[in-house]
Amino acid sequence: MANIKYNKISRLSQILKSTNLTLPDVFDKSEIVSKGYVNMINNGIIKPVNRGMHVLLPLGFRVLDKLTKLIDREMLNIGAQRILLPALTATKLWKKTGRYEPDNNELFKVTDRYEKEYVLSPTFEEGVCDVLSKLGPISSKILPLKLYQISSKWRDEMKPRLGLLRSREFIMKDLYTFDANLDDATNTYNLVCEAYTKIFKQLGIEYIKAEGDAGSIGGSLSHEYHYLSKVGEDIVLACKSCNYYVNKNVHTQSECPHCNKSLLKHNAIEVGHTFLLDTKYSQPLKVLYKEQNVEKPLVMGCFGIGLSRIMAAAVEILSTNEELRWPSGLAPYTVTIIPPKSGSKEEAAVSYVETINEILCRLGIDAVVDDRTGLTIGKRVLYTRTVGCPYAIILGKSVISKSMFELYDVYNDKYHAVTLEGISDYFMDRNSKEPENILLQENRS
Ligand SMILES: [Zn+2]
Repeated sequence: MANIKYNKISRLSQILKSTNLTLPDVFDKSEIVSKGYVNMINNGIIKPVNRGMHVLLPLGFRVLDKLTKLIDREMLNIGAQRILLPALTATKLWKKTGRYEPDNNELFKVTDRYEKEYVLSPTFEEGVCDVLSKLGPISSKILPLKLYQISSKWRDEMKPRLGLLRSREFIMKDLYTFDANLDDATNTYNLVCEAYTKIFKQLGIEYIKAEGDAGSIGGSLSHEYHYLSKVGEDIVLACKSCNYYVNKNVHTQSECPHCNKSLLKHNAIEVGHTFLLDTKYSQPLKVLYKEQNVEKPLVMGCFGIGLSRIMAAAVEILSTNEELRWPSGLAPYTVTIIPPKSGSKEEAAVSYVETINEILCRLGIDAVVDDRTGLTIGKRVLYTRTVGCPYAIILGKSVISKSMFELYDVYNDKYHAVTLEGISDYFMDRNSKEPENILLQENRS
């Protein structure tokens, strides 16, 4: 390759990605693999390192980062404040809330040098309550209080599956809300559900909201957000005639409680879960607020979204056997810029790469140059398709004679011949379009 120096633009040749296919059969020969999992490994999105544990490689981290920003935006819109709790929660707090079961072997347990016991937290109701109790009593002026974090969580899964779909370390957004009474807490619950609707709508994958299974977290009201998929482990019962959805663990009858039609079973991947907890945690852990000199426990809600699981589920649902596909806005790079092959007649046109990148930067669009110019344009276009970048801008045959570029819309398999101004117009038009309407199937209740 010629010694071309690119300023301020990522070069594909320098990005750490996989060079060999490494399925996780070194860990467990019986582990089921899926097209999504194989694609993620082959394209250098993730790398399995231990049973149920994966590294997010640079391309995978970019996807997580975009998803994090999308969720951050919607949390900010409802007035939530981001925090970060220590990964280890004192075991004695889990004992106080009655959640600690000595023979629960899904909890990672840690003992420190002073023989103090901790759990490597799968969820943080105890952790966040402990902080507020130490800060309290909370002034009623800051209610409703909404605190969230986006961080690693741990569960010593007996059967980790399909990479990030069920892993022993996973990235979750967990939000905890605190209100003075149950009515206010119910309003907050509904507000957070609206934010979840906005998040799932932007991701653009058809989802359902079902009556939930409160499980070990508990509480009086619970909903689950699911993607329907045959690789999902949850079973959701659906009534097509009145759009009623319920987790099989909640509703054991075969008929819809609203219209008596029969319910159909679907495999589903749970990607979000909401709980109205009342004072289940705030009472024993003394999370109090003061009203007319009386201290009362706050009413709590908790709300999770699995970021790493959404990545795995989205790829599973959207991809083909050979090519990754990402939800709108989450691809590792939105555009790959493909300069001419080295030694070709068009090689001098390589100077356009930085101009194109500047145009895209001004529009807030992230791009990478596929500077592996020893490869043909065709091979590099194929790479763009395989890794699932939605657009390629190709410096092809008509770049010298006509100053025209090929703009390839990968997801719709359409080529457009464009000028430099045309590139700008195309993406401005795209930016101004509303997110596509998708079929929303929310619980009728
Ligand atoms: Zn029904």
